[in-house]
Amino acid sequence: MQRSYPGTAQLEQWDKQYVWHPFTPMERWCREDQLVIERGEGCYLYDTEGNRYLDGISSLWVTVHGHNHPELNKAIKEQVDKISHSTLLGLANVPATLLAKELVEITPEGLDRVFYSDAGATAVEIAIKIAYQYWQQKDGGRYRQKTKFISLGNAYHGDTIGSVSVGAIDLFHKVYHPLLFDCYTVPSPYCYRCPFEREQSSCNRQCFRAAEETIAAHAEEVAAFIIEPLVQGAAGIITAPEGYLRHVADACKRHNVLLIADEVAVGFGRTGKMFACEHEGVNPDIMCLAKGITGGYLPLAATLTTEEIYRAFVGRPEEGKTFYHGHTYTGNPVASAAALANLRLFKETGLIEKLPGKIAALKRGLEKIARLPHVGEVRQRGMMVGIELVADRATKEPYAVEKQVGHQVVLAARKRGVIVRPLGDVLVLMPILAMTEEQLMELTETVYIAITEVTGGDAL
Ligand SMILES: *Cc1c(COP(=O)(O)O)cnc(C)c1O
Repeated sequence: MQRSYPGTAQLEQWDKQYVWHPFTPMERWCREDQLVIERGEGCYLYDTEGNRYLDGISSLWVTVHGHNHPELNKAIKEQVDKISHSTLLGLANVPATLLAKELVEITPEGLDRVFYSDAGATAVEIAIKIAYQYWQQKDGGRYRQKTKFISLGNAYHGDTIGSVSVGAIDLFHKVYHPLLFDCYTVPSPYCYRCPFEREQSSCNRQCFRAAEETIAAHAEEVAAFIIEPLVQGAAGIITAPEGYLRHVADACKRHNVLLIADEVAVGFGRTGKMFACEHEGVNPDIMCLAKGITGGYLPLAATLTTEEIYRAFVGRPEEGKTFYHGHTYTGNPVASAAALANLRLFKETGLIEKLPGKIAALKRGLEKIARLPHVGEVRQRGMMVGIELVADRATKEPYAVEKQVGHQVVLAARKRGVIVRPLGDVLVLMPILAMTEEQLMELTETVYIAITEVTGGDAL
């Protein structure tokens, strides 16, 4: 292939000199050898040296049908040949209109309006502002005191100030506390490290009650409860106990609190259904979508609301009800065309129907990993996996931070041609939904070997 850039060593040096990487301790980054990715094909990535890697993280939880997919490429190229961007402020465009209609059709019942943006964080930011302004304007301001939000411990909703305000991961968020608005936090339903120090055998669903009690106690002043349905992703793929989402949704309904479902990570098939809310028959008032929406090709996000919420913003210009929010690239036609092609491929390939088989294969591949002496817990929800590594399996004692065990396992897997990423010492597997059962085995086998290499010990 014709190269239009200098060699790998030069690129790596320039990267280390000029690029500030996200979520990256840069001192360590600059010390270690780095890959420079040049292209992708299906479920594999290729670096500038021509080495091939299985993409075990869906390029950060976004890729659905694989990289360099001819249909997605074609949809993007065709749109580029028409127009690459036209503003949604004051003008409509073809793909954004068609996509809004499709999103309303495939999302849970009641979500009838689509507000576009371009990242998960902005989708959440928009949800927060809409929920707040809704109560300011509803019924002539009767509910104006509903200004607060409830979120979960360990929550992650993105990195803008509003989305960090409803987040609760100290490592990422602590330093910003003085900048954030106050929020009520309910305990994370993190069974492996139960906030109420219960074991499965002694569980009395205290986290269910705690959520309900907080909603009931503060309903008068709370605009919305925001939740990552079924899986708290960035916290380490923390999988909620069955019925927790349903329970929270019911409590919100009873107490007149809006439910914001942040499906940025779990949406578009990741949990085995198109949207995670479907597993428990939940119809949220507001839903945030991003990551998988374009099949992982271009930045796009959407915040969907009910018609009831939307109505509170409808009035003559002088009534001042308008939602004054927008991003320059909102409703970008190329990204919308990619999203339309993504949804079309879901239908044409029957991908959702094929997921149960893949999920079962992944589960089989994980069984051996779960028996490793330094694997505290393997959590799987659909195609999302967290493998929590611990120094001591009996006491659940974590490894010392300076050991960087998660990171070491990632490097060991990379040597063997598999890309994964850790969240602390939780190893995350987020296979591309299009992966074959063979590729899923390649992923779990390699991760198994990488964990044994770093932590020692054979399966128990
Ligand atoms: C990734 C993520 C976000 C933020 O999305 P960005 O596109 O990175 O801004 C928000 N919420 C959840 C649940 C996420 O996993």
